[in-house]
Amino acid sequence: MPFTHRLSPSNKIRLAEVPTSGHDFHQSRDKAEEEFKALRKRLAHLQNRLYASGKHRLLVLLQAMDAGGKDSTIRHVFKGVNPQGVQVHSFKTPSKEELSHDYLWRVHAAAPAAGTIGVFNRSHYEDVLVVRVEDLVPRSIWEKRYQHINDFERMLSDCGTTILKFFLHISKDEQKKRFQDRLSTFYKQWKFSVDDLRKRKQWDQYQEAFEDMLNNCTTDHAPWYVIPADQKWYRNLTISKTIVHALEDLDPEFPSVEEGIENVVIE
Ligand code: ATP
Ligand code: MG
Repeated sequence: MPFTHRLSPSNKIRLAEVPTSGHDFHQSRDKAEEEFKALRKRLAHLQNRLYASGKHRLLVLLQAMDAGGKDSTIRHVFKGVNPQGVQVHSFKTPSKEELSHDYLWRVHAAAPAAGTIGVFNRSHYEDVLVVRVEDLVPRSIWEKRYQHINDFERMLSDCGTTILKFFLHISKDEQKKRFQDRLSTFYKQWKFSVDDLRKRKQWDQYQEAFEDMLNNCTTDHAPWYVIPADQKWYRNLTISKTIVHALEDLDPEFPSVEEGIENVVIE
């Protein structure tokens, strides 16, 4: 099932034709939630093995429109995982120092170390999304970045990083509901920014930029998954399943124990 949403380098997609509803793929919310709970336990176990073996690295990258559910995905999917082995990086508007370097500098510095899972909440893809839509640099500069990014991700992959990229695909109606909810719920109001409405007006430009990102930067070593994300239960299930599959494939092993350990007596 996770591979249903995996893009292939040879097939270009039209984002407007990709469903945003999980109901198109799964009939039962209750069953999905049960499956998800079991996967969460499996993820915690596999992460423990990843950490103990200290060999592989896993990068989980999330991109979405505002209110697309990046924060909520991280909260739900990684609940119960040992925080020591997971680092979450939220990429905000670059600082003065970050801007004084190339755009991949801050990203490379945040890439996961051996034995750990790195979660990117936004990423280097902002440099072909917001930067493009807001015209922060000319086309001649941002259009070269797709190739840079593919080369960068190739290098990470060659050096032992498994890369999973998730685009949380929501409908414009769902975004409206979520903004409305943020506005009317006391403890969510802080998440609302008037700037979100300005970006909502640029919905079509953002969708176009996302579509180009997905089509230009889906590679065999770093595929994009387009997750129907209108329903959190389906989103959580699919993302955790994909991560668990990737870790099962890596099959990290506990290190061998010290010789003679069976004869140790603790006094
Ligand atoms: P939420 O989606 O829950 O609102 P957020 O990720 O939007 O959370 P914010 O602090 O609201 O968090 O926004 C971070 C901002 O940083 C976004 O508007 C994003 O477009 C911007 N940003 C990230 N990377 C870059 C970049 N390379 N260049 C310019 N802006 C960037
Ligand atoms: Mg925001």
